Amino acid sequence: MDDLRLFLKDETKRQNEGLELIASENFASVKVRELCGSILTNKYAEGFPGKRYYGGCQNIDKIEQLAIDLACKVFGSKFANVQPHSGSSANMIAYAALLNPGDTILSLSLDEGGHLTHGSPVSFSSRYYKIQHYHLNALGHIDYEGLAKIAQEVKPQLILAGFSAYPYEIDFQRIGAIAKENGAYFMVDMAHIAGLIAAGYHQNPVPFADVVTSTTHKTLRGPRGGLILCNTEEMNKKINFACFPGHQGGPLENIIAAKAQCFLEALTPEYKEYIKGVVENTKACAERFQELGATVSGTQTHLFLVDTKRSYGMTGYDAQHLLEEALITLNKNMIPGDTEKPSKTSGIRIGFAALTTRGCTLETARAVAEIIHAVLAGQISTEVAKRRVRRISSKLKDVTTL
Ligand SMILES: *Cc1c(COP(=O)(O)O)cnc(C)c1O
Repeated sequence: MDDLRLFLKDETKRQNEGLELIASENFASVKVRELCGSILTNKYAEGFPGKRYYGGCQNIDKIEQLAIDLACKVFGSKFANVQPHSGSSANMIAYAALLNPGDTILSLSLDEGGHLTHGSPVSFSSRYYKIQHYHLNALGHIDYEGLAKIAQEVKPQLILAGFSAYPYEIDFQRIGAIAKENGAYFMVDMAHIAGLIAAGYHQNPVPFADVVTSTTHKTLRGPRGGLILCNTEEMNKKINFACFPGHQGGPLENIIAAKAQCFLEALTPEYKEYIKGVVENTKACAERFQELGATVSGTQTHLFLVDTKRSYGMTGYDAQHLLEEALITLNKNMIPGDTEKPSKTSGIRIGFAALTTRGCTLETARAVAEIIHAVLAGQISTEVAKRRVRRISSKLKDVTTL
């Protein structure tokens, strides 16, 4: 092996042949991918547009300023920082801008749908901050009243909302009011639902939150990276300083250019149609599971959860691995009230952001539910399922042409 590009052939085949249902994944456009792989990677540009530590940034400045302006336009914020290398970095930077080590963050735990960086014992977040959690109710919805009560008890410096495996719309306005009553900052991590927000299919947190962090590669369909939004000059200064020199060095200007391209795409009518399709496909698939007798969460977003333990007597871990044999890619996931270990889980998470980018229709979304159900219920072998999957994927768009 003397040329890593040879691996691209196998990975292109894998992406085209299978059905990608991981809720955090998507397929970026050709333009986004070209900018990621462009000569912009060659340039050092520590600092921000107009205030750089190195010379030769005249073109870079225009690109990054455009990315900032477009981010503000897409989400209706006054300020944006487009430099975070990832969603996790965006959260680390935002915490550092708002908090001192030892301050308390009130969040939803990973088990209930939060993210590692929201205070998991294995994440930096629990090492530097005290973590308290609010919870879901028995139906799997955020317990807003419980949240208000816990906020009064633990007096957090920051309340965090925005999750990785939550299938319902989040009432940011309501949580923002609770934060205000308790003198806490309100931070929203919209990593998963940024695309839905951009297209107007989910309440926008920007008017209610002090800081909003995001990824750009999930429903937003851009390059792998992070983003931070806010509405005041003072907050923007804190965030920029926590970003550079606080936690990062030179920004990835190739990725920032690709972010600008993804924001341009998010402003088109076609993108709104795309997100509409994502939400409709997700709902159609979840409803088909229900018709087939499986226990699934409801959905108001791009994802839902299937209780594999109750529906098929199988852990999420086993379901994930069985489906992988049939070229169906998804992940095991804890479900509300889960009694299994996080490494096993009682469920799987299914999302339609990626497949909808490849032109998945309602009919296909229902067929996906039927294949998964048949495999997990032991009605068909993974070999038969694989043939059905190949028939479906061969009719979807080639991932190199989007
Ligand atoms: C995906 C995700 C992140 C982290 O993004 P990375 O780019 O993988 O670091 C942060 N928060 C939430 C809610 C996420 O879903």
